[in-house]
Amino acid sequence: MTGKTHITVAHGDGIGPEIMEACLRVMQAAGAAIEIETIEIGEKAYLQGHTSGISADAWESIYRTRVLYKAPITTPQGGGYKSLNVTIRKTLGLFANVRPATSYFPAIDTKHPLMKIIIIRENEEDLYAGIEHRQTAEVYQTLKLISRPGSEKIIRYAFEYARANNRKKVSCFTKDNIMKMTDGLFHKVFDEVAKEYPEIKTEHMIIDIGTARLAERPDKFDVIVLQNLYGDILSDVAAQLTGSVGLGVSANIGEQHAMFEAIHGSAPDIAGKSIANPSGLLLAGVQMLVHLGQPEVAARINNAWKVAIEDGIHTADIYREDRSTTKVGTQEFADAVIDRLGKEPEYLRVVRFADEIRMRPIVVKPQPKLKKELVGVDVFLDWDNDPRDPEILGNLLAEKIHSPELKLVMITNRGLKVYPADEDPVTFCTDHWRCRFKNPEDKPVPHAAVIALLTQIAAAGLDFIKTEHLYLFDGQPGFSLGQGE
Ligand code: NAD
Repeated sequence: MTGKTHITVAHGDGIGPEIMEACLRVMQAAGAAIEIETIEIGEKAYLQGHTSGISADAWESIYRTRVLYKAPITTPQGGGYKSLNVTIRKTLGLFANVRPATSYFPAIDTKHPLMKIIIIRENEEDLYAGIEHRQTAEVYQTLKLISRPGSEKIIRYAFEYARANNRKKVSCFTKDNIMKMTDGLFHKVFDEVAKEYPEIKTEHMIIDIGTARLAERPDKFDVIVLQNLYGDILSDVAAQLTGSVGLGVSANIGEQHAMFEAIHGSAPDIAGKSIANPSGLLLAGVQMLVHLGQPEVAARINNAWKVAIEDGIHTADIYREDRSTTKVGTQEFADAVIDRLGKEPEYLRVVRFADEIRMRPIVVKPQPKLKKELVGVDVFLDWDNDPRDPEILGNLLAEKIHSPELKLVMITNRGLKVYPADEDPVTFCTDHWRCRFKNPEDKPVPHAAVIALLTQIAAAGLDFIKTEHLYLFDGQPGFSLGQGE
């Protein structure tokens, strides 16, 4: 036994190997008690025929060590390759993506000297389900999947994180004025969980105005919790506001595994030149050492890094004539950090990680079983008639479809109700039509009624491309109205 913790390290592609080498040198010099197992993922694995960019051996190491320290990888262009990052996050259940965005002013130039926010992004759901279909010649679809347990887990994580790290406020951004069901659920769960943390201030904003406010006054924010895509975009915006995407850190945390990386990519434009900034990956390594229970080594590295940037030792991406002293390459920057181990910054905040940043385990509350009743169906048609007149389609359905249980109540095109039409919509119609059939009294109908309806639709020569069932949950509709309905 060495007393060292085994970790899995992937050197990645592009600038990956250069910055990883620099970071591991710093960690070793700082006395990190880590035993490294190296795996190869990314471009080489893709080219060896692993379409997900990772081999079985690499998985074995990650499963065993439970911690992956990962340099950026290049996702090959073109079809057939799945994003390795998404695969790793989902396979290991890394549901929480923690992305700090901190300003290091005046050492690093930024418009926002007082920024010190933590973005907590849901990491497994949302549009990243990757379920996409082309349904007609004109229309493509991707599915946004939001679950109650998934939302509750990330929101609880955000509040637990705030409490453990003495943060004062948690903000939540959604677009629930438009997506009332998916984003509405996230907002509702946020309000529910917030009640259990009365000492923490909370606020909800619509994502567009929230982003605008963040860009203007990031000092007004503390912890922000978001769904996957919003979190992806907002965290890059926030990292850029601090001065460079090269500084951004991404900790991916699950119940049993964790992965630490920089937020930037493999930067092929500067690969091999030894000019890349290793700071994002190094600061991700600092988070990893805290996670591994080595807060003192983590603080030593973080403080030495701050001294180096205070001293104006800057890589090209953050070099500014007026505040930098020496422009350095990747390895010289690592050497500068190593030379400063044991020192503390003068004007930037000295880092001391609490020995015990204990977060309670995230436990999702069981929900009562609901009574679920089928009351209708949305049938989507590919109908490329000339002219594309909703009246013609509506009349055709009225003439051909005779279901005792399900009646046509509306047709929408791109979400807008076009039949029965109160007025002529000015907008155009595509070849993709949603026809809503419902029981007129909202009485439950059997699945057989839907099948009989579809049989009639097919017999009428219409191409149904998908269906969505309309359910009531404890009497409440589990479907949205059409725009204009
Ligand atoms: P990128 O982040 O690699 O580069 C964007 C710009 O930022 C480039 O001009 C680059 O030179 C600069 N930059 C990035 N990191 C830097 C650093 N550490 N120091 C100095 N400058 C830096 O984004 P991209 O060009 O869109 O993507 C390149 C490749 O990386 C793609 O194949 C993409 O799929 C992949 N990628 C991987 C990850 C990951 O592995 N986590 C994340 C994002 C992108």
